[in-house]
Amino acid sequence: AGQRLKGIAQVRSVTPDGKVIELSANISSIKELDVALSSGTSGVGLFRTEFLYMDRNRLPKEEEQTDVYRNVAEQLSGRSLIIRTLDIGGDKHLDYFELPEEENPFLGYRAIRICLDKTDLFKTQLRAILRTSAYGEVKIMYPLISSVEEVRGANALLEEAKRELQAEGIAFNNDIEVGIMIELPAAVMIADMLAKEVDFFSIGTNDLVQFTLAVDRMNDQISHLYEPYHPAVLRMLKMTVEAAKRNGTHIGVCGELAGDVRALPIWLALDVDELSMSAHAILPIKERLLSLRQQDSRSLFDDLMQCRTSAEIHESLNAFHRQFD
Ligand code: PEP
Ligand code: MG
Repeated sequence: AGQRLKGIAQVRSVTPDGKVIELSANISSIKELDVALSSGTSGVGLFRTEFLYMDRNRLPKEEEQTDVYRNVAEQLSGRSLIIRTLDIGGDKHLDYFELPEEENPFLGYRAIRICLDKTDLFKTQLRAILRTSAYGEVKIMYPLISSVEEVRGANALLEEAKRELQAEGIAFNNDIEVGIMIELPAAVMIADMLAKEVDFFSIGTNDLVQFTLAVDRMNDQISHLYEPYHPAVLRMLKMTVEAAKRNGTHIGVCGELAGDVRALPIWLALDVDELSMSAHAILPIKERLLSLRQQDSRSLFDDLMQCRTSAEIHESLNAFHRQFD
């Protein structure tokens, strides 16, 4: 199977009836780039930058960050690189950065909320990302967005960072694309408004499932309730993609569900532009994509939307995939 999969690394990712989907990689360090590149990745759809801030005893300086991002950008030689701004809090902590003790850390002081509060910390990262944009097809993505105000707040700081760099004579791409993660139900509900503020969306299914179902994704005791194939989740996905399409906004997916072969017909039916996943998932996903018709995925999806329970959804998906086993 390994050899067969390697054989399709350079094959275009397109269904038999002509639907093209970009297959890109989620990485959290440069080490993960090798597998992505040898799998023929179309780029990095999610660079989780947390690792740069963790496992050390002080904040990474602008130059240190720029070096790390630039290294990735250059290895991608022109392919797209989406750098997500700091997503700490919740389960991710920094030893040297005092976070408050909270009753509900996942609903607490985290991610973009910290960045909009500690603007120096945020602007240092924005400057580093902007500087990297002189060396590749770099894009910025904000996590955990729940409102238009947050997007505007973040973009105002981005503009400030641009003005500073300009004044200092440092090169960057002034037209850098800006996107957001759609991973909170609030963002789904106002996706039409958010689409008018940004260049692209990426659905974060890990958090979207957690917050739609109110099921802590880290809690083993209720892990049986963490159900991505829930009728409510399917509706969230459909609403988001339809809002993106109505507004001409590029729509990707970067949660675990993007790399799940069983979910692929859902993404084909919804007609998403990009799936970003762990590098090891790229070739298995591409293999299925090469034999899965978008038209058949659409009829399956119509059936899935009629299902009242997750069990029915699983049954329907199993039956559909059986033709490939
Ligand atoms: C997500 O929430 O789906 C996601 C991709 O981000 P993370 O897993 O880093 O929270
Ligand atoms: Mg997330």
